[in-house]
Amino acid sequence: MFVSDNLCVNANGNLTIGGVDTVDLAKKYGTPLYVMDEDMIRRECSVFQNSIDKYYDGHGLVCYASKAFSCKEIYRIMQSENMGIDVVSAGELYTAVQAGFDVSKACFHGNNKTLEELKMALDYHVGRIVVDNIYEMETLNRLAGERNEIISVLLRIKPGVDAHTHNFIRTGQIDSKFGFALETGEAFEAVKKALSCPNMELKGLHCHIGSQILDTQGFTAAAEVMMEFIEMLKIKLGYETLDLNLGGGYGIRYTQEDDPLPYDAYMKAIAEVINGFCETHDVRRPFILIEPGRSIVAPAGITLYTVGGIKEIPNIRTYVSVDGGMCDNPRYILYQSAYDALIANKADQPKTEKVTIAGKCCESGDLIGENMPIQHCEVGDIIAVCATGAYNYSMASNYNRLQKPAVVFVKDGKDRIVVKRETLDDIVRYDI
Ligand SMILES: *Cc1c(COP(=O)(O)O)cnc(C)c1O
Repeated sequence: MFVSDNLCVNANGNLTIGGVDTVDLAKKYGTPLYVMDEDMIRRECSVFQNSIDKYYDGHGLVCYASKAFSCKEIYRIMQSENMGIDVVSAGELYTAVQAGFDVSKACFHGNNKTLEELKMALDYHVGRIVVDNIYEMETLNRLAGERNEIISVLLRIKPGVDAHTHNFIRTGQIDSKFGFALETGEAFEAVKKALSCPNMELKGLHCHIGSQILDTQGFTAAAEVMMEFIEMLKIKLGYETLDLNLGGGYGIRYTQEDDPLPYDAYMKAIAEVINGFCETHDVRRPFILIEPGRSIVAPAGITLYTVGGIKEIPNIRTYVSVDGGMCDNPRYILYQSAYDALIANKADQPKTEKVTIAGKCCESGDLIGENMPIQHCEVGDIIAVCATGAYNYSMASNYNRLQKPAVVFVKDGKDRIVVKRETLDDIVRYDI
């Protein structure tokens, strides 16, 4: 009935998340409101970790890709779950450090890390810096040299694998701004250069083929290609790759149309390829890292809005306006992403209407979605949009000077605020 199995209906006919009444949450904290189920986030971490234990003898690390949802509390949770993390900016790294996260278990990504960011990564002893380009390699080698340090790096490789997903969230093909291309020999030259950098220890390779990928083929193809490259590096350069980071991108259910795989199916398929390759070739079995972002947090989150104006345009459509929009969920305006929505205070009633849910920003494209099946909508209803835990809060903006919503976590049937709602004073804080 619901896209996530942490959602339910209680005796009042209200939607619950992790056992907590969402209508009560809307009353207590106001709307728009992000609500996330902490127990579910922790469960998803375990599913990925167990898959490495089960299919790859635990010889790996799951790194939560924190760009999906970043705030202090999520890093504390990742720390307590023994997860690694990915960060892609000084801001994410700083937040993790402030939360007490042990960043020796962090990977630092990005195609244009600034000098300040690279210095910060060295200051904080980030475990693995994923080098994207030659300029960055030279800069990092120089910075490490100035400190008489040896810095551990992975190289980001474009494996040339085309993932079946939206164009803007595909990253593994040659025409991508991320990493070194395999086919052109660029990646091979980059490995040679990294090995010649005196202040750099090349620990291994990284690739990430895209996001919201709902089958295993792209991952197994990438694993195969990377293992062949690893073998070639051993034969031609005598170099043994220790780490193989295969990125994230595991797909989730946004609507009933999506049919995601159980998360452990990915590691099963990937491990088969790598174990098989290592049995038949003279290469060492790499330590595997994976970087799920969306799949850890998206299904655990919902957004609650209050319905305002309803505009029926006869024979065309009905607009139901809510008190948020592209400023808290820009995914429709970016990718025309589909979401499932329902009326939280009528969760036990059938969906009898199809409406366009519109945000309150001054853009015609500011929609949560079109033609969304939903219960009969009235002013004051609480709309819940499901599976918004990833790339919503982290992509939120202050467009139209709207204030970013609060984030509430629920756990063991209790709720607590983890990010406060912005105030009007926050909005003018940096204005002179
Ligand atoms: C975005 C990203 C991820 C996470 O992707 P999801 O689709 O959220 O799982 C992992 N690794 C890298 C390098 C990324 O850029």
